[in-house]
Amino acid sequence: MKGIHFLVAFVLLALSSSFAFAFDPSPLQDFCVAINDPKDGVFVNGKFCRDPMLATANDFSFSGLNIPGNTSNQVGSNVTLINVDKIPGLNTLGISIARIDFSPYGGLNPPHIHPRATEGLIHFQFNIGNTNAVAIAGLSSQNPGVITIANAVFGSIPPINPDVLAKAFQLDKNVVNYLQKQFWVNNH
Ligand code: MN
Repeated sequence: MKGIHFLVAFVLLALSSSFAFAFDPSPLQDFCVAINDPKDGVFVNGKFCRDPMLATANDFSFSGLNIPGNTSNQVGSNVTLINVDKIPGLNTLGISIARIDFSPYGGLNPPHIHPRATEGLIHFQFNIGNTNAVAIAGLSSQNPGVITIANAVFGSIPPINPDVLAKAFQLDKNVVNYLQKQFWVNNH
């Protein structure tokens, strides 16, 4: 009799444990469509989300990447960055895309870094006649940021001490002074 009680208890336990699911809710969510001004905010890594039930197809699309950027500046290039500010549905997805237009007259995208992303070339279209050449780049952040090296070094406000720059870059101080007087264009 004792053995049967034990068996019944054991079977009940076995059955109940086979239906037990114990885990935290998934930390991932399908949508976190960004909103810009949360009323009663606490810190969040990225932007606050709209209620996922209110997400629309527009939150995940952008049109205009086909429009050539204006390359009439000193470096002859223009970057159109499509980040979370342009596609709110990119929030928490860790990705963005950029179109870089190059003037057919020697345009270049000056040396730069993206502090929150690595960047890879997806597509390059050579210029035909006098149209822009176009590069499409992917970046591993919803908001990659950009630091253009020459601008940061010679165009910083307040300026970096010219003696430091002369020594660090092995330049004559007059050259440093010349460089610091230039207008350092932002092609973004
Ligand atoms: Mn870049």
